[in-house]
Amino acid sequence: MFKIVTLPGDGIGPEVMDATLRVLGWFGRRGFQYQTEEALVGGIAYESLGRSDPDESMAKAKAADVVLLGAVGGPKWDNLPFHQKPERGLLRARQELQVFANLRPALCFDALKDASTLKPEIVSGLDILIVRELMGGVYFGEPKETTDLPDGQKRAVDTQVYTSSEIDRIARVAFELARVRGKKLASAEKSNVMVTGVLWRQVVTEVAKDYPDVQLTHILADNAAMQLVRNPKQFDVLVTDNLFGDVLSDEAAQLTGSIGMLPSASLGAKRADGKQSALYEPIHGSAPDIAGKGLANPIASILSLAMAFRYSFARPDDAARIEKAVDAVLAEGYRTGDIMQPGKIQVGTTAMADAILKALDKP
Ligand code: NAD
Repeated sequence: MFKIVTLPGDGIGPEVMDATLRVLGWFGRRGFQYQTEEALVGGIAYESLGRSDPDESMAKAKAADVVLLGAVGGPKWDNLPFHQKPERGLLRARQELQVFANLRPALCFDALKDASTLKPEIVSGLDILIVRELMGGVYFGEPKETTDLPDGQKRAVDTQVYTSSEIDRIARVAFELARVRGKKLASAEKSNVMVTGVLWRQVVTEVAKDYPDVQLTHILADNAAMQLVRNPKQFDVLVTDNLFGDVLSDEAAQLTGSIGMLPSASLGAKRADGKQSALYEPIHGSAPDIAGKGLANPIASILSLAMAFRYSFARPDDAARIEKAVDAVLAEGYRTGDIMQPGKIQVGTTAMADAILKALDKP
């Protein structure tokens, strides 16, 4: 029995979560055993409990096998101080769960190959996985401060820090994933100008000795950015640090079209009980412009559930079944507004979920 905690959050978060739970229910009716419990994070938690990262929600998330998150944030809370903002709920959940590996697949569904800003032949059949280090690097390194200089200027400092063990653990996650995919791993850093990049390259090279079946290449992060738009299909798994991963995964995401299509997983270390903390979420935000209107594309959230089936429930066939169902409804011509193309059938959140459930029913 898997314990799933849902954090629907704000804006379109609850709408896409509802659609996702309907897909989960489909598997429940066919023998998949789970229980769900909802908890509050983000703006909605701030409104009812006075903080966006309630301890009670964090405790529930930590006790879960899997956490599913919708989205947090919205204009109503934009002017709150940083420590009260809805995003604080998400950041604390990641911290509490110690999820250090962020997996962002960029998968081009055939029916959407014309929706990319790149030529269809460049993106057709694209299936790459970016593995981003999520808990270290320049976003967390100390000192991180702004000081006043005697001449009246200000001086701001962020610090890029990595230890060899932080690099080792993210590299192992990436090698393991490459091993069950195309057996090719590219590691991106800036070892030409950064000492953290030199250490990154050394440690990844060392870890590679434990994975002789995976072909490792090193690439400078700026070159990786260029290669991703020049010839993205040369990559299978790409591992990189927090900052470069933030940028490169957004770039890869855009290769496949809409933000409403992109799932993610954040995984932690194996715990004493053999399980691994895991947080699954669409990469989009709370989309305040369309919230409450039933227009949101639920596919990113539903594909995040597929990732949970693959990485947390050890049911890769069910993951593939969800992905195939999504592929089928797109091929039938169903589109939410964000991926609408001329001549296709425009539907809202509920009708898109209905179509995916119907496709799941087909053998
Ligand atoms: P956004 O992703 O919410 O929206 C960007 C654009 O994409 C909007 O036009 C929106 O309508 C559209 N869009 C996004 N998801 C969609 C979907 N599933 N279906 C159809 N259209 C979709 O980004 P934003 O506008 O920069 O941010 C809005 C709020 O979300 C902000 O408060 C921001 O801080 C927050 N945010 C949260 C997360 C998160 O929870 N992980 C991520 C990014 C932004």
